[in-house]
Amino acid sequence: MQGKNCKVAKFGGTSLCDAAHFKKIKDLSERFGNEHCIVVSAPGKRNACDIKVTDMLYRLYDMRLQGKKAEADELKCAVTERYSDIASELGIEFSPEKELDFAMANVGTDDTSADELVSRGEYLCAKLLAKYLGYTFIDAAELIFFDEYGVLMMKKTLRAISKRLRETEKAVIPGFYGTEAATGKIRTFTRGGSDITGALIARGVDAKIYENWTDVSGFYVTDPRLVPEARKVDKLCFNELRELSCMGASVLHGSTVLPLMGSDISIRVCNTNAPDEKGTLICPAVETKNRIAGIAGKRGYTIVTIKKLALGDDGGFARRALHAFEACSVPVEHMPLSMDNLSVVTFTSSLNEKKEMLTQELTHVLGDISVEFSDGISLVAAVSSMLGQSADAVCTLFNALAKNHIRIRLIDTGSGSDSVVAGVDDDDFERAIRAIYSEFEENGYL
Ligand code: ASP
Repeated sequence: MQGKNCKVAKFGGTSLCDAAHFKKIKDLSERFGNEHCIVVSAPGKRNACDIKVTDMLYRLYDMRLQGKKAEADELKCAVTERYSDIASELGIEFSPEKELDFAMANVGTDDTSADELVSRGEYLCAKLLAKYLGYTFIDAAELIFFDEYGVLMMKKTLRAISKRLRETEKAVIPGFYGTEAATGKIRTFTRGGSDITGALIARGVDAKIYENWTDVSGFYVTDPRLVPEARKVDKLCFNELRELSCMGASVLHGSTVLPLMGSDISIRVCNTNAPDEKGTLICPAVETKNRIAGIAGKRGYTIVTIKKLALGDDGGFARRALHAFEACSVPVEHMPLSMDNLSVVTFTSSLNEKKEMLTQELTHVLGDISVEFSDGISLVAAVSSMLGQSADAVCTLFNALAKNHIRIRLIDTGSGSDSVVAGVDDDDFERAIRAIYSEFEENGYL
């Protein structure tokens, strides 16, 4: 498979959670044409109380590492059952045990991480689906390569995909993992990374389209749990998707578009349970005019405020401050600064037990400063590739907060940025999202 006759379809965990969903995929595959490739996640939750196979495997790794044999055996049985239940309902022979035993045998032997064992979730799922559909199974370990720091080797990966898939018409490939080129060890992407695998395969074969099949019919302007009347988004551009994912929209992994940048391959988000709904198309660029692509937000931030008179007169202060955050492994999400103070937004969870250490490190590199920590901060953002050209749209967001007497704790927007971000108190989070949605709606931006 190669070129614009072929399609790549990636199915997420909920689309592979049981035999009924495998059957849906078989029906859908009939629409996919003569040349196509299916990329899969590991089986997800069947209901709200269920556990994803990937989460079970992480736990199995921990139990095994801690030598808790009884718990590990129980978990292995539970994982095995997920696959054998699906296989028996589909009427096929399938035994995942040998593969799991093999991956488990390596746990704790040298410097193995959880990656190898956890990757078996996708591996076994792809094997099972390939058998059911009668397609070729191709192991992602032969196609996707990482360097010793876990960074994707894009060129080597795309070359391997193009070469290997050229000879095949219909294939199933496991998502989420690849091989560390120098050592041959299995490495995974971050959580949700099968989306990236799908994009790599699409780029490697230069597919017509990358369909990402999930359990929702695409993106909504904002979270429908907060704003039930939220509109669906027909089209987004790659940058908007990245901004929305970074601000908490969880439909696709934020790095999904990276392999597709510079190509003409679009992503369509489709619903496995409502395949005829239009979904959202994510394209390299879109005509935006007066439109906001999304309103997103997240709780759980802390603002670290560093104060010192004439802090900014010292040319290297920002570098030294950043170095202190890095030395304490505290990520920097936003960093507005002025003459006498510097505010750094980070995740509250990353500061656990580290406030004193960070204060000491900052004092060490910046001298006589005061450091304050404000917890309980939420970030809310409006995202659109036209924000840079529309002062009106930016004002609309702040009007919404002002009209509703919502205190703004911080503002951040870079030049040329596709988002404008405001920090508000956690207690105001939901009110802020609703207020921003209705203000944009009233002003014709949605
Ligand atoms: N199964 C992995 C996870 O749960 C990867 C994926 O689904 O994309 O994160």
